[in-house]
Amino acid sequence: MDNCIFCSIIQGKIPSQKVYEDDQIFAFKDINPEAPVHVLIIPKKHIASINELDEDNSQVIGHIYGAAKKIAKELGIAESGYRVVANCGSDAGQTVFHIHFHLLGGRSLNWPPG
Ligand code: AMP
Ligand code: ZN
Repeated sequence: MDNCIFCSIIQGKIPSQKVYEDDQIFAFKDINPEAPVHVLIIPKKHIASINELDEDNSQVIGHIYGAAKKIAKELGIAESGYRVVANCGSDAGQTVFHIHFHLLGGRSLNWPPG
């Protein structure tokens, strides 16, 4: 997708701190971390948001959760705890319209979020 910052990151046109990659997904450190561990996990195929998920493209979401589990273990937060969250639309504060899952941990996280 043209003009998508996360598609550009996947393609290596914009630098990122990669933490995981396979044929379906890419994970990298958030540029503005909200916690000691803040990783974004994204599908390589452009999907704008949760609203765009359907039977044909949603299989990757389970794969993303599997990767979140592995990354959390590798980064040492599997036991202390972490959160995986996807913002959808303006009320949730979504700013990048390439679906992404925030993996947050390394500190006590507030609930409910603001
Ligand atoms: P959201 O508000 O859920 O759409 O989250 C978008 C996230 O992308 C924010 O946490 C940003 O800090 C992050 N972000 C934006 N541009 C970049 C970038 N070039 N590299 C890494 N993270 C980014
Ligand atoms: Zn994209």
